[in-house]
Amino acid sequence: MTSIAFIGLGHMGGPMAANLVKAGHVVQGFDLVPDLLETAAQKGVSPCASMEKAVEGCDLVITMLPAGHHVISVWSKLVPLVPAGTLLIDCSTIDIDSTKKAHELAKEHGCPSLDAPVSGGTSGAEAGTLTFMVGGEAKAFAAAEPILRVMGKRIIHCGDASMGQAAKICNNMILGVSMIAVSEAFVLAEKLGLSQQSLFDVAAVSSGQCWSLTTYCPVPGPVPTSPANRDYQPGFATALMLKDLLLSQNAAELSGANTPLGHQAAALYQRLNDDGSGNKDFSAIIEMIRKL
Ligand code: NAD
Repeated sequence: MTSIAFIGLGHMGGPMAANLVKAGHVVQGFDLVPDLLETAAQKGVSPCASMEKAVEGCDLVITMLPAGHHVISVWSKLVPLVPAGTLLIDCSTIDIDSTKKAHELAKEHGCPSLDAPVSGGTSGAEAGTLTFMVGGEAKAFAAAEPILRVMGKRIIHCGDASMGQAAKICNNMILGVSMIAVSEAFVLAEKLGLSQQSLFDVAAVSSGQCWSLTTYCPVPGPVPTSPANRDYQPGFATALMLKDLLLSQNAAELSGANTPLGHQAAALYQRLNDDGSGNKDFSAIIEMIRKL
């Protein structure tokens, strides 16, 4: 049994904290939104009125926050409050610079730290089947693994500090680009008179095969569980895909990498988001491509 402080009990953090409780850990939770504290309390999380209270007496701190500036603000406050040696894990998806800054803050106070962003969405958070991409020292990873395994199915150590975040950003750039490629192929097929099912049947067993096609097909029919079958209710919202693509472009600029398709994908998702589809699933990009 570990005593865990969990900061950020939103769509992802709420169910992740609940799974830690289910596994027998003591979880002290904090979020700025009182309703979320109440929901977490119903799942066995001890609700705390402040972050200071949440980290009191804990062996380990997990943060699950919207963006880099939230993580830096929270870590700047919490790091001086916990004893040296307390393990700090950030599971948010944030920019590389903020990730490195968070690790530096932890190091200055003698705390081991990990960046451990996830994929798998809210359904994965609820089912405890997330994939964790982890950056940080091997010793910290070994200590964190049993805890992460409660919330996830695949726990991958990607390298030193910030490499988990790097893996997350690169993976989601592949996803954004591949969804556009699959959508363009369906739009071209429609113009050519090729049925959606025939394109699916061929590409799913040919070199065009990819997750965006076979698991998340952007047209209704071939994959009954994909968001296209429920009017593009997310799933993974366009606004979140845009966030991740912008993180990839920020990382590309800072590192000097050339990512022309990533750049174009970010521009197309920006347009979809600005057209008022931010809350729709990201596979709704096909609707915009059809109208271009
Ligand atoms: P969310 O907005 O639902 O939750 C974030 C929570 O952090 C909110 O409840 C907010 O009140 C809280 N918060 C913000 N500042 C705080 C502070 N100073 N102290 C305490 N709480 C604070 O977001 P989410 O969907 O849970 O996503 C969290 C992170 O996970 C994001 O970085 C997101 O990109 C990433 N992510 C989300 C998904 C998804 O499908 N939702 C999938 C993978 C990764």
